[in-house]
Amino acid sequence: MKPRFQFTIHATEGKARTGVIQMRRGEIRTPAFMPVGTAATVKAMKPQDVRATGADIILGNTYHLMLRPGAERMARLGGLHKFMNWDRPILTDSGGYQVMSLSELRKITEEGVTFASHIDGSRHMLSPERSMEIQRLLGSDIVMCFDECPKIDQPRDVIARSMEMSMRWAKRSREAFDAGGDHAECSALFGIQQGALDESLRKTSADALAEIGFDGYAIGGLAVGEGQEAMFSTLDFAPGQLPADRPRYLMGVGKPDDLVGAVERGVDMFDCVLPTRSGRNGQAFTWSGPLNMRNARHAEDTGPVDPRCSCPTCATYTRAYLHHLIKAGEMLGAMLLTEHNISFYQQLMQGMRDAIAEQRFTAFAADFRRDYFRKE
Ligand SMILES: [Zn+2]
Repeated sequence: MKPRFQFTIHATEGKARTGVIQMRRGEIRTPAFMPVGTAATVKAMKPQDVRATGADIILGNTYHLMLRPGAERMARLGGLHKFMNWDRPILTDSGGYQVMSLSELRKITEEGVTFASHIDGSRHMLSPERSMEIQRLLGSDIVMCFDECPKIDQPRDVIARSMEMSMRWAKRSREAFDAGGDHAECSALFGIQQGALDESLRKTSADALAEIGFDGYAIGGLAVGEGQEAMFSTLDFAPGQLPADRPRYLMGVGKPDDLVGAVERGVDMFDCVLPTRSGRNGQAFTWSGPLNMRNARHAEDTGPVDPRCSCPTCATYTRAYLHHLIKAGEMLGAMLLTEHNISFYQQLMQGMRDAIAEQRFTAFAADFRRDYFRKE
């Protein structure tokens, strides 16, 4: 039988690692990028097309799915995988971050968070126990602990108190997950390190999580407006504080150059809305840097979005056509650019995995930055 959760590191170079996570629903090659499927869909893409880009796992959002269609309804319909026709692993977030960023009328106590839906104003509650229950009802493969992600610019004592509550919530999440019966037997639970940009708070958080014990460890509370330099400074120490034999997941990151810099610092997993959201807004990521497809210079360009890209969009359509579709507000423009962007991200991850395996990642990262930031 396939393992519940097994992480094997195949090669390292400096702090960078490549390997594989084996789970019941399939393998996840690392470093991995998880496209975001917020509302039971990776926006503008069919699941089989997401898979064809090379994605091994996608992310679902607990906050959105608990509000619509609702966790109990999802369970009656057979779970998220069946509902959306994706049979490979799904990671669900805990809802904590989005309750803070999207909902109204929040009240945070030791018990949990009560809030009003951003859709219809209805009242809801999330706690470690309810978050674990919702993620179980969805049928999540990788469940995230319920935590609080505080605003990054607050005083150290506020960050410290928030982190300490998140660690108590991590213990409650562990206990509630373990009481989940069959679901706990075939899925995994990740803890989330907090502590903002502070090295000693991050260490305290990492030690508290390791004491509880998790299948993997996320680095939370970054990519919230601190900027790349501060994020990289934190990533110079944060991954190394977490258990080395477990996957490390940097939540909500990021731009292609963020991914390369974070892999250099020892991160194994990522998720971000950027490739999908940018695709809908007319932005294409390429090996030569981001392109705004609305720009008039593409109007009569018969070349592909990225000549180095192997995706169906680049094999079939011209920059001129994509420029036209985006300018005209046609849905196909969003679909084709989303497919390209997700494909580009997966090709970037594959390039990093191959480079680490072949001990040439340092050169790969230097070449990537030279081409990506080259001024035309
Ligand atoms: Zn492409």
